[in-house]
Amino acid sequence: MRTRDAKKRSRDFREVALGLTERQALKEARRCLQCKKPMCVEGCPVEINIPAFIAAIRNTDFPGALNVIRQYNMLPAVCGRVCPQENQCQSRCILGKKKAPIAIGALERFAADYEARKGLSERPVKIRPNGHKVAVIGSGPAGLTAAADLAKMGYDITIFEALHEAGGVLLYGIPEFRLPKKIIKREIEYVKSLGVKILLNWVVGKTQTIEELFREGFRAVFIGVGAGSPRYMSIPGENLNNVYFASEFLTRVNLMKAEQFPRYDTPVKKARKVAVIGGGNVAMDSARTALRLGAEKVFIVYRRSGDEMPSRQEEVEHAKKEGIIFKFLTNPKEIIGDERGYVKAIRCDRMVLCEPDTSGRRRPECSGEEFILDVDQVIMAIGQTSNPILVRSIEGLKLWGAGYIEVDENGASNIPGIFAGGDISTGAATVISAMGAGKRAARAIHDFIAKPK
Ligand code: FAD
Ligand code: SF4
Repeated sequence: MRTRDAKKRSRDFREVALGLTERQALKEARRCLQCKKPMCVEGCPVEINIPAFIAAIRNTDFPGALNVIRQYNMLPAVCGRVCPQENQCQSRCILGKKKAPIAIGALERFAADYEARKGLSERPVKIRPNGHKVAVIGSGPAGLTAAADLAKMGYDITIFEALHEAGGVLLYGIPEFRLPKKIIKREIEYVKSLGVKILLNWVVGKTQTIEELFREGFRAVFIGVGAGSPRYMSIPGENLNNVYFASEFLTRVNLMKAEQFPRYDTPVKKARKVAVIGGGNVAMDSARTALRLGAEKVFIVYRRSGDEMPSRQEEVEHAKKEGIIFKFLTNPKEIIGDERGYVKAIRCDRMVLCEPDTSGRRRPECSGEEFILDVDQVIMAIGQTSNPILVRSIEGLKLWGAGYIEVDENGASNIPGIFAGGDISTGAATVISAMGAGKRAARAIHDFIAKPK
């Protein structure tokens, strides 16, 4: 896929990847073998009929391709951009055994972007209201998917969202240069066109409790509140000025438009040298955002080696081309401040890799050597965890680990009528796994209301 020039793009927030041209899409679609037993479908968490949509592209029926995708996935332009296809559908494509697998994600994005470019919109779905109200809490990919699927079945759906805009991490976590806001907004408009109502600035657990929602006549509740609380390293200096947690840093830029300060009044401090701690997508997004805010040098500080990094390979390559410096086998042990309480450096241990741990990745251990890295800003991107506001407000709700909701394979919690899915039940995962959970829960909620035992 074509991308914008690395030097130019590293100083603005416009989208990096440009998508396939019509010619490229046709050429790629013609490589597909149209397998009788398509392994790619087994690799897709929402089981899109991949050969069918690729066949439509081959026949230059681009709107038809999108119609096929939308039967399974109502966020195709989003998934075509951010899904880790290399570990999912594409990793199963039979062609991958000998040569490059089909670029399924790029083709999905092409079909969705074609519709947007041509100003086409999906044919309206005929809905027969069934008179039952269901509440969806959180407007991330899990909540939007559950809401859309239930609305299509005739349910009267209200999404309650804590923030002032809908979209969850898609909106406030993933930066504009990877996933433009207008794309998310367009897909949310589609969900609203199904009759779904979205109430913003509504923190369930505070503004209103779940019991109150049931008393208001909601027959079931789907909880898709994600895992948005930051994780700490608990090292000295974490409370110095100019230490950010990635979720706050990214939210300030993505949602509060910090880069447009003073036009918008929630800035982030500009820095010359930034260290981002972590090796996942969140770290990569934070580093590339810091660069775009004007930093001269941005380091990714990661305690294992490049082979163990959990972020998407494509994002790592984009980051490297943009000039992000990778400090592998490096573990910060202290953030050092100046006399005014601002970050001036980090003290790091040099690490070595030992035998694999329970995650299957080689375990890092201190080599005994340490060094100082001069930086004036630190962004912690070592993971997120569950936010306790809602879960703690529900008496008797069964939780696991760091406060995640325990559910069965259909998303049912231990309390009848309360379902959950996405990051709040699995821990931080992916967009498509959250959507898959929303889908399964929608079916289970329908069974719960329409076919009570
Ligand atoms: P979320 O997207 O977190 O949405 C939850 C929503 O619930 C939020 O809008 C929140 O405001 C709202 N909420 C919370 N509490 C309440 C409450 N009490 N009342 C009402 N509303 C509430 N995944 C990928 O597949 N590919 C990527 O490239 C990728 N990049 C990522 C980059 C970043 C920076 C981050 C943070 C995550 C990334 N992920 C990526 C992971 C992916 O975004 C998440 O797994 C996914 O968004 C989880 O969806 P969700 O619907 O469960 O929760
Ligand atoms: Fe096409 Fe690959 Fe799927 Fe076969 S496995 S149908 S070649 S995308």
